[in-house]
Amino acid sequence: MTVSFGHIQDIAELSLIARTCTRCPLSEGRTNVVFGSGSVTADVMVVGEGPGQQEDEEGVPFVGRSGRLLTSLLTEVGLERDDVYIANVVKCRPPRNRDPLPAEIDACKPYLRRQIELVDPSVVITLGNFSTKLLLRTATGITRLRGVAYEWWGRYLVPTFHPAAALRGGERVTNDIRSDLRLVRSVIDGRIPSGDEPQANDTLVSVDQEQESSQMGLFGES
Ligand code: SF4
Repeated sequence: MTVSFGHIQDIAELSLIARTCTRCPLSEGRTNVVFGSGSVTADVMVVGEGPGQQEDEEGVPFVGRSGRLLTSLLTEVGLERDDVYIANVVKCRPPRNRDPLPAEIDACKPYLRRQIELVDPSVVITLGNFSTKLLLRTATGITRLRGVAYEWWGRYLVPTFHPAAALRGGERVTNDIRSDLRLVRSVIDGRIPSGDEPQANDTLVSVDQEQESSQMGLFGES
């Protein structure tokens, strides 16, 4: 059953609800709900996949090796951890760090939806396939989607690789993330490079059209 948190006006209140959430089986194995961290008035929001072991133990997203790399790469473009808001597609750790299942993503996405609405960033960075496919509502993979700032719900969305992929894939992947984060910097500074004009390709739904034509919300739920 689709749930809406549209009536919740405060991130802290939403976080309290999530803390006792049993909407999907991931609740059974978690130590902590990893709801999100950072500035709730941030101009930039980062959306990852799901908590790993260290995140599950500490209740904070991106505190392991991937998190340290993310923090370092954000710093290179002048963004401190406290300047951004960080959340994941699923708030509870999948067992053995497996990929989140479609039903789990479906159950958890109302939290992410409301987080984005309440933080109201001007740029959303999606890390890896799960967050990118969910938010852009596409089956296209991250390798093809990255490198572009997409116009999305009255803001911009910049997809890039998950830092875990950089830890596995080495300098080439890390440099691609660097390049995407420089694009984020350009968007924040109001300098969209001419080759990176926001665009909606045919895998994307035009946000304005959709808003006009229906009451559908982010990710398609009503
Ligand atoms: S992953 Fe999301 S929907 Fe599932 S139990 Fe955790 S907070 Fe609830």
